[in-house]
Amino acid sequence: MSNTETHPAEVRCGPRPGAGPTADVEVLTPRTVPLGGPRAMTVRRTLPQRARTLIGAWCFADHYGPDDVAATGGMNVAPHPHTGLQTVSWLFSGEIEHRDSLGTHALVRPGELNLMTGGLGICHSEVSTPGTRILHGVQLWVALPDEHRHAQRDFQHYAPTPVPLDGGQALVFLGTLAGDTSPVHTFTPLLGAELSADPGATLTLGIDPDFEHGLLVDTGDIRADGTVLRPGELGCLAPGRRELTLTNTGPARARLILLGGPPFQEEIVMWWNFIGRTHEDIVRARRDWQEGRRFGTVTGYDGAPLPAPELPNTPLKPRGNKR
Ligand code: MN
Repeated sequence: MSNTETHPAEVRCGPRPGAGPTADVEVLTPRTVPLGGPRAMTVRRTLPQRARTLIGAWCFADHYGPDDVAATGGMNVAPHPHTGLQTVSWLFSGEIEHRDSLGTHALVRPGELNLMTGGLGICHSEVSTPGTRILHGVQLWVALPDEHRHAQRDFQHYAPTPVPLDGGQALVFLGTLAGDTSPVHTFTPLLGAELSADPGATLTLGIDPDFEHGLLVDTGDIRADGTVLRPGELGCLAPGRRELTLTNTGPARARLILLGGPPFQEEIVMWWNFIGRTHEDIVRARRDWQEGRRFGTVTGYDGAPLPAPELPNTPLKPRGNKR
């Protein structure tokens, strides 16, 4: 995914009045962002936003679909660069063809993790396949800690085995949950899982008290420890909990993405598709992309790479979470 938003709108967020009896689940509402292109598929972005930059090292959350590809044109993101981050592609339906400058040519399919490490620099293209009718999923980014932010380019694929839960199911793609551990290596401790809950079911999950957590609702009406979360919303939970209780209050099966990690201690500068620590890091990354250095090339994509947008006139400032 390429971020087309160079001047993000500031949006109101935080606990919604009347959201529930407990005020300790912070509710982030999404904003709609076009992905670019002639018919402009849109995504619902919950991270980053003014009130919150990160959950653990998770620094970007785009949620899209279900999109009728015949109407929206689906996804066609030309080669674009990344630095200082990892991308996680996770689909609920449809299929995306991924090509990157490591030479990877992979098909992203529902229920399978595709984790790309940008490190010092990588570029990739993402195109929904001709057979895709409904495209539905998330794209998430992970900020790399300073000591690993120039890591080697990498691409990992992992298809977790579903873990049955009392009243639902988990697919643990990163970290540990419900007795299952993903073998995929991360540079900071992380949790990433797809959860489903049967109508009326309450799931009780043991969680790491050192982690903060995010619950992104795809479908269904969820109560998380008493706080109502609607589809598209991201509920944030502070560290210190050993248990998370979710109730599906709706008449159909609910689906969510659970994210977690220890609070990220560094401030980052995030602009377009780059993460650095200073304005100069971003200026260098942009210049290297525009001048054809550092990020390599994607072969097999039919079209020109994406040009970087213009930098703002004022220096980019580092951001972390308000504490
Ligand atoms: Mn991308």
